[in-house]
Formats: sequence, structure tokens, C-alpha cells
Amino acid sequence: MSHPDNCIFCKIAAGTIPSRKVYEDEDIFVFHDIAPWAPVHFLMIPKAHIPSMAQVGAEHEALLGRMMTLAPKLALEQGCRPYPEGGFRIVTNTGAEGGQEVHHLHIHVMGGPRPWLRG
Ligand code: AMP
Ligand code: ZN
Repeated sequence: MSHPDNCIFCKIAAGTIPSRKVYEDEDIFVFHDIAPWAPVHFLMIPKAHIPSMAQVGAEHEALLGRMMTLAPKLALEQGCRPYPEGGFRIVTNTGAEGGQEVHHLHIHVMGGPRPWLRG
């Protein structure tokens, strides 16, 4: 599952397609969604090409755990107000009926003052 030539999120993680970067480490890349639903809306992706949550296994437990524990920290840094008055929403669309359009696993993190554009 390494970097297919035609995957837009692999290209974003590699820096060959520009994005507004929020965070990066060896395994994880985070950038602002190009069409935000909410005042704060960023996407968290593994740098490795995993198509969706349908393909994850035991070998991904540490990576997914790190992404989920990083999300609240980045949400606050990006302007979400603290829990419980503030908070954020985490969404991972999976497959056609799950509403997934880009087939490189990504976690949407949305938040900020309502009303939101969508959701
Ligand atoms: P999903 O429907 O869950 O697959 O979400 C894909 C998300 O990727 C959508 O919210 C898009 O707005 C976002 N998106 C697509 N292309 C880009 C891009 N080049 N930079 C940032 N976000 C993007
Ligand atoms: Zn990819």
C-alpha cells in the first residue's frame, strides 16, 4: 500500500501537490480541507497509502492511536474552543455508501462557532 501515482493525498503528503499544512511528522500529515464545512476543518492522513478504514489491521493500531490522540491537540491549536462548550467533530467516511470521495484514509476534524456551512 505504498504511494500510488494517481493518489491526490499521497501527492499532498509528499509535497508534490500544495496544501495548507497544519502538522507533519514521520508518519502523519495534516492539512486544511480545501472546501471547509466549518470554521475549523482539517484532514489528518497517514503518509502511507491506506485506501480506507476497511483496510486497517493490527499493524495500524499505533498509527491510528497516534492520529486520534493528536486530533484534540491540533483542534485546539487551530481555534476550536475547549470541551465542553467548544469541541470538534471527527469523521472518517469509508467506501461509496460511507460517502468517501478520496480513497486515501483521512480523518476530518471539524469545529468552531456554529452555524457551520454543512454538518
Ligand atoms: P471524503 O468525501 O471524506 O473522501 O473527503 C474528501 C475531502 O478532501 C473533501 O472534504 C474535500 O474538500 C477534500 N479535498 C479534496 N481535494 C483536496 C485538496 N487538494 N486539498 C485539500 N482538501 C482536499
Ligand atoms: Zn494515497
